[in-house]
Amino acid sequence: MKQADTSLINALQNAKRVVIKIGSALLLDGITGHINRDWLYGLAADIDALRGRGVDVVIVSSGAIGLGRARLGLRGDELSLEQKQACAAAGQAQLTQSYEDVLSPLGHVTAQTLMTLPDTEDRRRWLNGRRTLKTLLALGAVPVVNENDTVSTDEIRYGDNDRLAARVAQMCGADMLLLLSDIDGLYTADPRRDKFAVHIPVIDAITPQIEAMGGSENPDAGVGTGGMATKIAAARIAVAAGCHVVVTRGDVARPISALETGGRSSWFTAHIDPFTARKQWIVGSLNHPGTILVDAGAAQALKTGKSLLPAGVTEISGQFTKGDPVSIVGPDGHKLAYGLTAYDSEDAKRIAGMKSQDIIATLGYSAGAALIHADDLALL
Ligand code: GLU
Repeated sequence: MKQADTSLINALQNAKRVVIKIGSALLLDGITGHINRDWLYGLAADIDALRGRGVDVVIVSSGAIGLGRARLGLRGDELSLEQKQACAAAGQAQLTQSYEDVLSPLGHVTAQTLMTLPDTEDRRRWLNGRRTLKTLLALGAVPVVNENDTVSTDEIRYGDNDRLAARVAQMCGADMLLLLSDIDGLYTADPRRDKFAVHIPVIDAITPQIEAMGGSENPDAGVGTGGMATKIAAARIAVAAGCHVVVTRGDVARPISALETGGRSSWFTAHIDPFTARKQWIVGSLNHPGTILVDAGAAQALKTGKSLLPAGVTEISGQFTKGDPVSIVGPDGHKLAYGLTAYDSEDAKRIAGMKSQDIIATLGYSAGAALIHADDLALL
């Protein structure tokens, strides 16, 4: 069977942007419900090492409900949705503070980022969330992301942070997603129940057989909700976005160092980079409700990888909302690119032909200097 060879470890060592998902079972003591401080210091040292080599780090951490539960003295197995929401409200501040406590002395600024499902499923909100995350990363901060459980109801919940982490990885163009778990990867069967279960180090394609190995949610997860099934679902999202996914044990002193020195793990490999994945996704969008005509100068600028500024736009047709994919056509009538607009059609028409510095005076707000940012353009 294929092993997680040095090329994969190199991929981690060369990663530029890493999302680390931490489950409640790692962060919290299963009995007291309090933070595992010693473990968290070790993780902080690993994050510091990543930041030291210039890697952007995003933490996706569970634990708000577990922390709040201990604080509110709620015992018993099952919490109602309202109780979970109340626990999250009581625990979230402490959760973020625990990361601040260990990362701040090492010189890192943490930034609490709470998301609900529509933040990643609705294009307009997706663009907003991405801007925030990218700005935080550009400023050198370490976002600490969790689901905004207090306002998430069952129908609009991720429920587990594995999928949230995958969406966050996709949103910020990460090239590596580390799912720190209580198990060192994917097995052909549950190794806690089947002694013939075989570890799978590398998964190049998520086939129906691989899906079947995921089973159902982790029955032993006392304070978390994710099992291998949600990790495979997360891997499917992230890999399609050009991001490698690693499932490895988190319950060791320095989990990322352990992984880098050959710790047992399962790798779901991505076959394209995040940049290419994003361009393919933009081109592959089925519906392009608008067309933007640009002048020769803008057409030339697009070809050199620049953003589309309102100044170069000569005409806009169709009805679209912020975040919709639109076609961009040059002065000769040829389609040049597809892109995701930062403004809806009404506002785009109002700023067409204008200098970017006049956007605020015209619209009363700005969603950025570009009508379509270079990151959101796919040239044909
Ligand atoms: N968002 C939940 C929390 O902070 C956890 C979800 C999960 O278990 O993955 O407690």
